Amino acid sequence: MQDAPPPCPRCSATAVARNGSNRSGTPTFRCRGCGQRFVAAPGKGPVPDEDKAAIERMLAERLSLRAVARITGRSRAWLQRFANDLYRRRTPHAPGRLKKVRRPDRPAR
Ligand SMILES: [Zn+2]
Repeated sequence: MQDAPPPCPRCSATAVARNGSNRSGTPTFRCRGCGQRFVAAPGKGPVPDEDKAAIERMLAERLSLRAVARITGRSRAWLQRFANDLYRRRTPHAPGRLKKVRRPDRPAR
């Protein structure tokens, strides 16, 4: 007998299917309602706004991404995405397409 899967964190539906596991082997689930993929007990939550504000100040001081990643303990991948978002929002002209746009909802070929 399996434990009941956790409800969806986005829409709190209980119609949830097992969806394999993530890179670190933690089982993942998929909501049948909204399609959200999630793990039962995420190790980390979303990055708090005060942390983001501090990271913005570090980037404004032109610290390198690696330095900011070492100081804050955030992953370089997360930091790069955050910096790209910041760049898109703060650039007065259209910055054009940044490399490696992630489209997570697209099915794998
Ligand atoms: Zn859902």
